[in-house]
Amino acid sequence: MTFPTRGYAAQSATTPLAPFQFERRAPRPDDVVIDILYCGVCHSDIHQARNEWHGSMYPMVPGHEIVGRVSAVGSAVTKFKAGDTVGVGCMVDSCQHCASCNTGLEQYCEQGATWTYNDKDRQDGSLTFGGYSERIVVSDKFVVSISDKLDLKAAAPLLCAGITTWSPLRHWNIGKGSKIAVIGLGGLGHMGLKFAKAMGADVTLFTRSPGKEEEARRLGADHVVLSTDAQQMAAVARQFEFILDTVPSPHDLNPYLDTLAINGVICLVGLLEPLEPAVQTAKVILGRRSISGSAIGGIGETQEMLDFCAEHGIVSDIEVIDMKDINAAYERVVKSDVRYRFVIDMASLKAA
Ligand code: NAP
Ligand code: ZN
Repeated sequence: MTFPTRGYAAQSATTPLAPFQFERRAPRPDDVVIDILYCGVCHSDIHQARNEWHGSMYPMVPGHEIVGRVSAVGSAVTKFKAGDTVGVGCMVDSCQHCASCNTGLEQYCEQGATWTYNDKDRQDGSLTFGGYSERIVVSDKFVVSISDKLDLKAAAPLLCAGITTWSPLRHWNIGKGSKIAVIGLGGLGHMGLKFAKAMGADVTLFTRSPGKEEEARRLGADHVVLSTDAQQMAAVARQFEFILDTVPSPHDLNPYLDTLAINGVICLVGLLEPLEPAVQTAKVILGRRSISGSAIGGIGETQEMLDFCAEHGIVSDIEVIDMKDINAAYERVVKSDVRYRFVIDMASLKAA
């Protein structure tokens, strides 16, 4: 039996999100049925709802920072039971047998991972619908456990903003003695500060926003550099072994390349379009610097990050909203006016 489910959907790139009724599938043997408690609002939701990355499919129910409680499980599920607190992030399936999947890098599945929304289910071809909804049905391999020690609403953004910043910091072995920087203090950026600090690094924030300095220090920054101030930029030339760039739109990478140490790495996580203006290759060559990128993180790594957060009491700084206020929240994210992640309380959808 399928589940009639209420959610919020975009019907086109230019229409606001509005109430939408659809069916969740009857559980397959490996499925977990989850009542959604909270869902974070990622800048990617806006890019996709508005077709800024092209290829958007409608109706689209966004949302990939999902925390909820298991209400039922399929016949073959042993890892989860009704009542468990769980999370779902950006992926709900992958091929499960390519070299990437076999090494815990499902996000780089050679056949393409199945995304939580705006994608097609691998088995029945139906559109996937995300977390701006009452419930979701997901294969157990793509469900992670969440400790009830954590404030659950503030844990929701860990499922995307958290893992997207955790994974590159771990991959590039950031730890005690590392000198790193984060560009942009938004949903991803504020988690980057928290994780890098917890890993023991000396952390700098690059921001365009003069008003964010005090907050940045509270969130873990040891230093704050106003990226629009050439003098402040010059003062940190050749400083950083690693920079995590969370900026969501085309921007000039060249001033940041000057702040990388020899062998330094800048890792792009925010941008899915060509860089503009072009990179001055001399800045990379004369310093053996690298420009790289990273997408979310694998399922095992996501669980590792959540366990670290439970142990260290790390969650996101959030502003809770009602489902009906989602369109106003999108406008505020676009204006960088969010401290630092909106999270939808799904009880507000049920009450509506
Ligand atoms: P967000 O909350 O809007 O934060 C982005 C921050 O970047 C802003 O707060 C702002 O910080 C800075 N910024 C914004 N526009 C800028 C511009 N034009 N030039 C320079 N800085 C700018 O967004 P988010 O949710 O953190 O997501 C960031 C990006 O990562 C989005 O594009 C999202 O789609 C992408 N993303 C990627 C992955 C992945 O797997 N790679 C996963 C999730 C999200 P300041 O005010 O401090 O300057
Ligand atoms: Zn996201």
